[in-house]
Amino acid sequence: MLCSRPWGRYGLSLQNISRQALCRKWISLTTTRPLILPRRSFIVTSRVQDQHLHGYKDVDRYHGQYPTRTHMCGELRPSDQNKHVVLCGWAQPSRSMSQELVFLPIRDASGTTQLVYRAEHCPPDIKTTIQQLSTESVICVEGIVRTRPEGTINHQLPTGGVEVDIQRIYCLNPASPQLPFWPSQTQLPNEEMRLKYRYLDLRRPTLQNNIRLRSLMANTIRQYLIEHHQFTEIETPTLFKSTPEGAREFVVPTRKPGLFYALPQSPQQHKQMLMAAGFDRYFQIARCFRDEDLRADRQPEFTQIDLEMSFVSARQVQQVIEGMVAAIWSKALGIQLSEQSFPHMTYQEAMTKYGSDKPDLRFDLQIQDMSICLKDKTKSLDCLVVKNGASQLTGGDLKSLIKDLELTETEQQLFGFVKINENNIQQWPLKCGGGLKQMMQYSQDTQQNMNTTLNVEPGDLIFLHQRPNYLYGGNTLMGRTRLQVANQLQRKGHLTIPHHLFKFTWIESFPLFTPDEQGIRTWQATHHPFTAPFDQDIPLLATDPAKVRGQHYDLVLNGMEIGGGSIRIHSPVMQTFIFDKVLQLEKHEYERFDHLIDALGGGCPPHGGIALGFDRLMAILCQANSIRDVIAFPKAAGGKDFVVDSPSQVTVSQLKEYGLQILDDIK
Ligand code: ASP
Repeated sequence: MLCSRPWGRYGLSLQNISRQALCRKWISLTTTRPLILPRRSFIVTSRVQDQHLHGYKDVDRYHGQYPTRTHMCGELRPSDQNKHVVLCGWAQPSRSMSQELVFLPIRDASGTTQLVYRAEHCPPDIKTTIQQLSTESVICVEGIVRTRPEGTINHQLPTGGVEVDIQRIYCLNPASPQLPFWPSQTQLPNEEMRLKYRYLDLRRPTLQNNIRLRSLMANTIRQYLIEHHQFTEIETPTLFKSTPEGAREFVVPTRKPGLFYALPQSPQQHKQMLMAAGFDRYFQIARCFRDEDLRADRQPEFTQIDLEMSFVSARQVQQVIEGMVAAIWSKALGIQLSEQSFPHMTYQEAMTKYGSDKPDLRFDLQIQDMSICLKDKTKSLDCLVVKNGASQLTGGDLKSLIKDLELTETEQQLFGFVKINENNIQQWPLKCGGGLKQMMQYSQDTQQNMNTTLNVEPGDLIFLHQRPNYLYGGNTLMGRTRLQVANQLQRKGHLTIPHHLFKFTWIESFPLFTPDEQGIRTWQATHHPFTAPFDQDIPLLATDPAKVRGQHYDLVLNGMEIGGGSIRIHSPVMQTFIFDKVLQLEKHEYERFDHLIDALGGGCPPHGGIALGFDRLMAILCQANSIRDVIAFPKAAGGKDFVVDSPSQVTVSQLKEYGLQILDDIK
């Protein structure tokens, strides 16, 4: 096969050359006697002569000893004046100012330094060399530090007070002149291209900073948990077992036909077993895998800060997390979170007031209950009053807002809005459109009371939605409307949300079970099936599962869920009852959890824990638009890895080894 990518660009092809053969050649090359290098200003002499590589040309590359780096490219300051330095890094586009003056910035992990060819100070052939260098070539440069003359100082760069007069350049590895893009380009190509050449994109300072901050945060978390809170970091298996825990798993075939591992969707079962094993406090910065339809900003493999504690209450777990978040915010952003502890809100309150189980509390816009107007008392009427909204949002804004809500036909009947004026202020619930008018029944007194309670005035914009009383799931239509309204108001400059406003809140008292929308069973676990019910709700498990609240807590920040956890069921009997009678798993399904049931029955302490999404957290800290910007090698939408072009096919003989066959009709 002819290799079309980088090798080819250098006159190399992999035709007829096996990997081992290449390796053998490399070893023999690196053990040859070092060449004595001539003192020349531009050194590209390769010890690899053509005959070494049997005709493969590798002559532009410098393979010998090169001078030891003395400084990083972001390090030099005017105090280094006249020092002889050696810098290594990536050549940036050069700028020829005249015959006598050429600039060549050099970049490494720490920053950029301006290298200069100045006719009066530098060997003459340096200029041609610079002009021949392709951008992003890896070079080593010897030179003399000069302070920049007044008026030419670059105050944007930490090294902007100096430049380095080039004495010698070693071209350690020339970059292909046909690179798909340069990291320093202002107009970057589309994301697919940048994901494919991730090693180029990762050279950009923004991504470099994100990945470095990620490492710093991992270290901060470890220090906080291990040194201050006596946690033990424990790795759990990546090759796990398929268990019906919730999300769809990735399965891994083995060479024992018919037997599979599954990748863990989280270390949940292992961390509970670690509590049974007496570790008391476990944590792990854990890779998790979920084969779910990838919504905009989801990854099939992602990282969680996962922890578990024995003999604790929900509040104790939350306190550990509050301290950890404070340590992270202080280290990453230099912000001391002022609140002693984060506020708490029940699921019911979050859903009724904000229409979301992850409310964005940076702006008010609360939903109010107007059920008093409805004929049907099994329904609720959500009402959102946007003060002065009538003039702030035009007909066009409202049209696009409604379009973005993607209302179903039923929702269109039950949803409406009205702009308040002097004429309709005494009867506006009847003027909201949709089919709402037919659903209203109330007196003039009620209208008066509502106007007073909601402080309705001409110029306001009001949305109404009739919904079922029983709430489940992550949001309501009015909750989604609230977010759309806030977006529109922000876009039009009527609402300002400061960048550094962090509104944390704990959401609690979730329903333990949610109706199974696929209709396969009656109930599914709202989070995962190991969450303990509220003690006082235990009697309802058998009689009214809809009313059972779980000891689950989510940590929400600015409308995003950044973590979730719970106190767990530690009784093997209750756990089996829930699998069997409430979740109605088949025996063969819940037997897949036998290891956990056994562990609970083998002397397992009461325990609870939580996991925070590390990728999301980093995206917030880095103010990144996407979690892909804080992951070194993320998958693109649809789970594709453009760097290595995966997932990819395997050979028929590999399939055979695993006892697998691809059926054409389901390919
Ligand atoms: N394992 C849970 C999750 O991945 C977190 C927890 O309950 O600790 O969402």
